[in-house]
Amino acid sequence: MKPVIALVGRPNVGKSTLFNRLTRSRDALVADLPGLTRDRHYGEGRIGERPFLVIDTGGFEPVAKNGIMHEMAKQTKQAVAEADAVIFIVDGRQGLTPHDKTITDFLRKSGRPVMLVVNKAEGMKYTTVTADFYELGLGDPYVISAAHGDGVHDLVEESLDIA
Ligand code: GDP
Ligand code: MG
Repeated sequence: MKPVIALVGRPNVGKSTLFNRLTRSRDALVADLPGLTRDRHYGEGRIGERPFLVIDTGGFEPVAKNGIMHEMAKQTKQAVAEADAVIFIVDGRQGLTPHDKTITDFLRKSGRPVMLVVNKAEGMKYTTVTADFYELGLGDPYVISAAHGDGVHDLVEESLDIA
């Protein structure tokens, strides 16, 4: 079985950008994965000789008012339950938000290995872009630029190591 990595984070942090980079395709949907739910985006990636599956949880960003947070939580929960490791993405330009804290609490309860990743870090100093996020208690953040590719290779290798 290929390890499954879930990309989790609030809307607009760059999950889909990272997903597209990892799968190198905009339609890398995996057609037939027994046991995996179909209402999220699955793709296949490869780092060197190591293949993996990646789930983009971007299909359920808030578009309507009723129960949307509940729905997001439900769907993220399913993705996390299927994952061997979670890449939890936050936005280094926007900084820490209450929603990030809610997601952190949920991920902690899930018991899955989590990597905290600060995206949009291109051109920024590590200490500056990460300072906000230590209070989440998830250790030293990884910094990446999903858009430019900085840090992505090492991030994925590390997440496969803990998966
Ligand atoms: P998602 O909602 O988490 O899937 O986020 P998207 O992947 O759709 O990205 C949201 C916005 O952030 C888009 O405008 C992206 O172009 C932008 N974005 C994503 N990654 C980066 C990055 O590494 N650097 C910068 N500056 N912008 C990024
Ligand atoms: Mg998305």
